[in-house]
Amino acid sequence: MHVFSSATAHSARRRWSLYAGILLFLGVIGGWLALDFLHERARALDEMGRLALHKSQLLSSVFGDAFLSTDYVLRDVAGRIDIERDLVYPNTDPAHQSRLTALLKAKLTTVSGLEDLVLFDRHCRFTAVASRQQLLGFKSQQRFCASRQLNLTEPLQIEYMPAERSASGKPVVLMSLPFSDALGQLQGGVLAVIDLAHAQHWIESFELEPNDVMAIVDSDGIVLARNPPLATALGKPTSPPPGYPSFAQMGRTSMFWATSPLDRRERIFGLSRLARFPFVAMVGFDKTRILTSWQHRAWQFLVGFAVLAVVSVLALRAHLTALRQGEAMRKLAITDELTGVANRRHLIEVGAQEVARARRYQRPLSVLMVDIDHFKMVNDRWGHATGDRVIQMMARLLCAAIRQQDSGGRLGGEEFAAILPETGLAGALTLAERLRARAAECLDAHDDFGMPVRFTVSIGVASLMPDDTSLDMVLQRADKALYLAKSSGRNRVEVMPLDPLVQNRPNAADAG
Ligand code: GH3
Ligand code: MG
Ligand code: MG
Repeated sequence: MHVFSSATAHSARRRWSLYAGILLFLGVIGGWLALDFLHERARALDEMGRLALHKSQLLSSVFGDAFLSTDYVLRDVAGRIDIERDLVYPNTDPAHQSRLTALLKAKLTTVSGLEDLVLFDRHCRFTAVASRQQLLGFKSQQRFCASRQLNLTEPLQIEYMPAERSASGKPVVLMSLPFSDALGQLQGGVLAVIDLAHAQHWIESFELEPNDVMAIVDSDGIVLARNPPLATALGKPTSPPPGYPSFAQMGRTSMFWATSPLDRRERIFGLSRLARFPFVAMVGFDKTRILTSWQHRAWQFLVGFAVLAVVSVLALRAHLTALRQGEAMRKLAITDELTGVANRRHLIEVGAQEVARARRYQRPLSVLMVDIDHFKMVNDRWGHATGDRVIQMMARLLCAAIRQQDSGGRLGGEEFAAILPETGLAGALTLAERLRARAAECLDAHDDFGMPVRFTVSIGVASLMPDDTSLDMVLQRADKALYLAKSSGRNRVEVMPLDPLVQNRPNAADAG
């Protein structure tokens, strides 16, 4: 039986799909935000990687220039030396010696960080020396020669010398230019000693963000200068971080992520080889710092989104509760309290709609008016509570008798009605007769002692006629038919107007 319209179910479906839509929208927005943030994170890291690379290129070019000027000095000195006179058969004239020393001294001051300039012969004996601190001597000569394997195919020789092996006790880089005669025999050379303290001062002059790092490393991975300074790291071969390319594999530049073995911080590194020298300029940016502002923003958005989601869900819940309450109120307003079936107002409302539709599409429609016989007697004999139970029983019988598309309800007291769309008079009479018979046979209503209370009903039937313009006109005829049934002895079904076709229908009361 359709007591309440199916529009309720329809609107509930629409409401749920709206909520699903809102949740889906939140999900999509959340997903999109997450993807966007991941993308932005990758972009921030990539950007910093490229910046590290650019800075390392700058560093390598500036640092390379310092070596280049030393190289020029060595070549300049070489150009002014007469190998025969100055090295192979050295002129022992003190004036000649002091001219050579003066030449070296003059060149020494042209490059900052250049500590010593030395001219040596093919036995590695120092023939002229210019030194800022006069520390080079015979000892150094021995050490130098012992450590050197002069390779004439390489015009410029570069070597790092740690503090414990250098004469000055400071870490230095030795750069030398060997001289060979026409036959390709080594005849001596000129040697420059570059103090790395100068490089360290120079690299320290760069301003860095906290936890960023800048370093010059040689081909063996030895740190020559570092900013921030790390005394324990300087001059020591560092165990290269995972991902650090070997000097041989390293291209002109390279970029990689690594956790520093020195301070355990993760950084993105840009590496650039010096153009002509076996050194690498390295710039590392701290990952935590790079991501700080990104993380800050991500947190802000996450919190904002979480608040939005919570507020949305709460609002949805509040809305749902309000709707459910509204629904309950609406149901209450259209329900008969005693029986739970549609009340008069709702039945009339539905009936009016059905009549309008039946008229528009010229479809049949019938109405039943049902009244319990001698109900006053039921009340008088068994009491009001039993009377109520009989009314409830009748409501159940009515609901069970009608079809899904029909509407049944209580008009008031012990009166009921049913609206039967798509039903002609014959069908309505069949239904009415069935209902009448079931009421008469019913043993399910009990008195206060559990004894069955029997009851009968009279039913008036009317069908929509072409001249009917309202439900009321049909109801009036059904009421008349009911009156006829009552006056004809009750426990009967009557129809109005009296139709010859249905006059001879069987009637239980008559039959009985
Ligand atoms: P008949 O219809 O056969 O002519 O006789 P009747 O006794 O049923 O007559 P009437 O319709 O005049 O009586 C209806 C009675 O139903 C009057 C009233 O006391 C009783 N009644 C109305 N509403 C309720 C209700 O909700 N519960 C109970 N128990 N009785 C009700
Ligand atoms: Mg009555
Ligand atoms: Mg009655």
